Amino acid sequence: MQCNKFESCCQNGCRMGKFTGTMHEYSLARALLRQVEEVVRLEGAAAATSVAVTIGEFSGVEPDLLQTAFADVAGQSLLVTGELLIEKVALEARCESCSHEFAVERFRFVCPQCESGSVKVLRGEEMMLERVVLEAK
Ligand SMILES: [Zn+2]
Repeated sequence: MQCNKFESCCQNGCRMGKFTGTMHEYSLARALLRQVEEVVRLEGAAAATSVAVTIGEFSGVEPDLLQTAFADVAGQSLLVTGELLIEKVALEARCESCSHEFAVERFRFVCPQCESGSVKVLRGEEMMLERVVLEAK
């Protein structure tokens, strides 16, 4: 692994481990980059000029950190030239008792209509690649 941003931390090889707080976002950024590169290759395009993702508010991903991490890892890729657009997705759930769909506020997993605690999360828990804008060869 190459560390190009934190030169001061690289004494013997890379010490990315020091930045434990951003490791999660860095591994996500790398996985995302690989996914986008795969799309570019499959489509026979020259590069991705824009990448859009949605991040659930309950996914544990910090949008600012992901943005920084992605800019960092994508800076080493010839296939991804654009920036990352992040859209946050609110946590939504469906009641298993009355099928009511509602936005979960303050992580209160209780149906506002029938007070049932049996709810299923519909969205807001994951990070999804939404859109990749490609530049033709
Ligand atoms: Zn209900």
